[in-house]
Amino acid sequence: MSSKRSSRAGLTFSLQLSVLYALFFVVGAGGLFAVAYYLIDNLIEQREREIVRDRIQEYRAWYEEGGLRALKARFDEQSDRGRDILFVRIVGPMNQVLFVSIPEGFKGFDYDRLRYLPHSEEDLWLSIKGQAEKDAWTIGVTHLPGGLALQVGKSSTQSQEILSFFRTVFLIFSIPILLLGVVGGGLLTFRAMRPIRQLIQTVKDILHTGKMSLRVPARKERGEMYELVGLFNQMLDRNDSLIQAMHNSLDNVAHDLRTPMTRLRGVAELALQENGDPGDCREALADCMEESERVLTMLNALMDVAEAETGVMRLEMGEVSVPDLIESVVDLYQVVAEEKGIMVRKDLPHELFVDADQTRFQQVIANLLDNALKYSDKGQEVVISAGKRGGRAFISVSDQGMGIPAKEINRIWDRLYRGDHSRSRRGLGLGLSFVRAIVEAHGGEVSVESEWNRGSRFSIRLPVARGMGSEDG
Ligand code: ADP
Repeated sequence: MSSKRSSRAGLTFSLQLSVLYALFFVVGAGGLFAVAYYLIDNLIEQREREIVRDRIQEYRAWYEEGGLRALKARFDEQSDRGRDILFVRIVGPMNQVLFVSIPEGFKGFDYDRLRYLPHSEEDLWLSIKGQAEKDAWTIGVTHLPGGLALQVGKSSTQSQEILSFFRTVFLIFSIPILLLGVVGGGLLTFRAMRPIRQLIQTVKDILHTGKMSLRVPARKERGEMYELVGLFNQMLDRNDSLIQAMHNSLDNVAHDLRTPMTRLRGVAELALQENGDPGDCREALADCMEESERVLTMLNALMDVAEAETGVMRLEMGEVSVPDLIESVVDLYQVVAEEKGIMVRKDLPHELFVDADQTRFQQVIANLLDNALKYSDKGQEVVISAGKRGGRAFISVSDQGMGIPAKEINRIWDRLYRGDHSRSRRGLGLGLSFVRAIVEAHGGEVSVESEWNRGSRFSIRLPVARGMGSEDG
C-alpha cells in the first residue's frame, strides 16, 4: 500500500510540475501577446492622430488665411487629391454646424458624442467606438478664432481589422501553444524525474527483497538528480559495510565468548560429577571465577569502546601531567618487562600537561605498553617518549618486536580484530579500538608505523592543556 502511495506521490509531483510548466508557458505567451498588442494598438493610434493632426494644421492655416469662406473654397479644391478623405466639421459657439464634410467611413457615427465638448486651449482627442466591432473613429478637436471649433476625424476601421486579425491569430495559435506547453512540460518532467523513479524502485526492491547489495543504476550524466543518486548509492555502500562490520563483530563476540563459556560449563559439570572432595570443588570454582572474569573483562572492554565511540562515555577531565602518568604506568609494567627480559626506556620532557581523564588515559598508555611488551621478545627494547610538536602534545611507544604485516595494518583498530601471528599470545583484540576511541573522545588522533619483523611505533597526538603555551619542546 505504501509503495502505491509513493508511486502516486511521484506521479502527482510530475503532474504538478507539468501543469506548472504549461501554466508558465501559457502565461508567458499571453503576457508577450498582451505587450505586443498594447504596443501595436498604441502605434496605430499615434499614426491615426498624426494624420488627423496634419490635416487640422492645414485647415487651421486655410482658416487663418481667409476665414470660413476661404477654408470652404480650398477644401472643395483639394478634397479630390487622392488623399484619405476625412470627416471635417466646423461648429459655432452655439454648437450650430457651419461646415461639414462626411466621408463614407462615418456611417453609423454618433454625432451627439461631439456635442458639449469641454472648452480647452489644447487639442482634444477622442477615440469613439461604433456598434459593430470594426467601427471606430479617431477625432481631433481644435479651436479656431471667433469661438469656432474645428472637428477632424478619421475612420479607424482598417486599424481595428489589423488588431482583430492579430487577436484571431493569437487565439488560433494559443491552442497548439497550450498543447506544446503541456506535452513538452510533461515530457521534460518525465525525463527529469527518471533518476527519482529509479531511486524509488531501488528502495522498494531493497525493502521487498532485503538485498542490501542493490544499487540505483549509475549514469554518467551531470545534475543534482544524478548527484543525489550517486550520494544515495554511496550511502548504501557505507551502510552495507557498517552492517557487514557489525555482523563480523557479532560473529567475533559470539566466537570469543563461546570458548570461555564452554570451558566454564565443562569445569562446573566436572565439579558436580566429582561428588565429594571439597578441595576439587574449590579448584573448579576458582577456575569458573577466572573464566567468568575473562568474559566480564571482555564485555566491559566492549562496552567501554562502544561508549567512547558514541560519545556516551563520561570523561572526568582535568589537567594531567604526561610524564608523571607515563612513569606510573611504566612502574606498573616493570615486573612484566623484567620477567620477559625487555628493557623499557623513557624519553620524557620535564613538564607536559594535557586536558584528559586521568584513569582513561592511564588505560590508553597501559594498553600500548602492554602490546609493546606482549609482541616483543627477550633482549629487545621498548621506548616510550613524549613531548610537544607543532603546538600539540605527542606520546609514542616504540618496540623492536614482531611488527605488523602491511595487509593487516588498516584492520588493527577494528573491534575484536587480532593479527594472524598474534593469536598464540593472550589478548581480546579490543586494546587498540579502546585506545583509538578514548584518544578521539579527547579530541586527539592515533597512528601507527610498523614493519614486519622490525618493530612498531604507536603515536598519539593531543591538544596541550590550556595555559601551556605553544612553543615546542
Ligand atoms: P590484542 O588483544 O590482540 O593485542 P589489540 O587491539 O591490542 O588486540 O591489537 C590488535 C592487533 O594489532 C593485535 O592482535 C596485533 O596483531 C597487532 N598489534 C598491536 N600492537 C602491536 C605491537 N606492538 N606489535 C605488533 N603487533 C601489534
